[in-house]
Amino acid sequence: MVIYYGVKKKLKLVSDLGQMTCTNCGHEVRAALAKEGGYVHIFFIPVFPVLTGFKMVYCPNCGIMRKLSGEEFKEMKQNNPPIK
Ligand SMILES: [Zn+2]
Repeated sequence: MVIYYGVKKKLKLVSDLGQMTCTNCGHEVRAALAKEGGYVHIFFIPVFPVLTGFKMVYCPNCGIMRKLSGEEFKEMKQNNPPIK
């Protein structure tokens, strides 16, 4: 019997940062505050979360605009409206 298992990574968008110019790709984008998380799955059923994630400013065009420290993330999260 084959058992399918592994870690599935997921990007969670936390806050809307509004329009800004991406420092990575140079496009005018609607940026978001995001953090990466993940979970271990068996047969593609999530079993438990793994906190692998780093925090970042997410660009919908190129992906990661900038990585953030915990402090920066906290501050930006407080100053921007959450994404529902
Ligand atoms: Zn970009």
